Amino acid sequence: MEIKTDSAEKGMLYLVSTPIGNLEDITLRALRILKEVDLVAAEDTRQTLKLLNHFEIKKPLVSYYEHNKIEKGNQLIRQMLEGKNIALVSDAGTPGISDPGEDLVRLAIENGIEVTAVPGPVAAVTGLITSGLPTGRFVFEGFLPMNKRVRKEHLKNLVGETRTIIFYEAPHKLIYTLKDLYEVLGNRRIVLARELTKRFEEKLRMTLEEAIRKYEEESPKGEFVLILEGASEEELKQQQRNKWEDMGIAEHVEMYMEQGMSKKEAMKKAAEDRGISKRDIYNSLL
Ligand code: SAM
Repeated sequence: MEIKTDSAEKGMLYLVSTPIGNLEDITLRALRILKEVDLVAAEDTRQTLKLLNHFEIKKPLVSYYEHNKIEKGNQLIRQMLEGKNIALVSDAGTPGISDPGEDLVRLAIENGIEVTAVPGPVAAVTGLITSGLPTGRFVFEGFLPMNKRVRKEHLKNLVGETRTIIFYEAPHKLIYTLKDLYEVLGNRRIVLARELTKRFEEKLRMTLEEAIRKYEEESPKGEFVLILEGASEEELKQQQRNKWEDMGIAEHVEMYMEQGMSKKEAMKKAAEDRGISKRDIYNSLL
């Protein structure tokens, strides 16, 4: 799609993905759009200046990050309404993924401004496809909440998640996150994809227990994507059995009767759930 030049019309918002480490991963279209837009809004202008200088692109840069996103967002919208074309780039990778990009996109849509993406690297997907864990179905969790209680609650909601789970984490918080994952989700396979596309890229394929042991002994360096195996069928069955164990037999039978089953049907179903005989159910209700 060509950039609009008619200043009577609204400008466009281009979400331009940039490399997550290796500058060769910039796309031809990203370079063209960065050259053609009126200005570039960047999460970290120093970082983006390095990128633009590397590709010999001279362009006005404005900062757009978490703590100025409301004020700057409104300014950028005004400029696009006046006909300016703006490229939004994040520190690395795809804008809108674990950075303030999504707010600007929402504002642009609310103001009738066309939004288009110049796709490119995303650390989450780059980590996933090299992990060796199932890629057919996955969930992206981004950064976990900082507050310990909220974080645990959040993780509890993932206990029954069977899809591969992807997290972002900063190195100084890695060990806490690994321990929380282990405590709430048990010992699963994890791939720590470190420094993707960079010189010291590494994929550490291990169990959560092994990862904790490793990072108790050495401090993690660089950027990490964590790719965690989802819950297995066996784990799900065990979780279900634990749930029934917490529930008394009478309560279990009543639950099904409240759902409309006869007592006989409810006893049969409860026996199946618990993996015990109908006689055991009957005896315990006497
Ligand atoms: N928008 C980016 C994207 O598309 O992936 C993500 C931005 S988020 C603020 C930064 C996080 O992405 C890092 O803390 C790390 O978890 C992950 N990340 C970015 N680059 C990475 C790399 N080269 N290797 C591993 N993880 C990376």
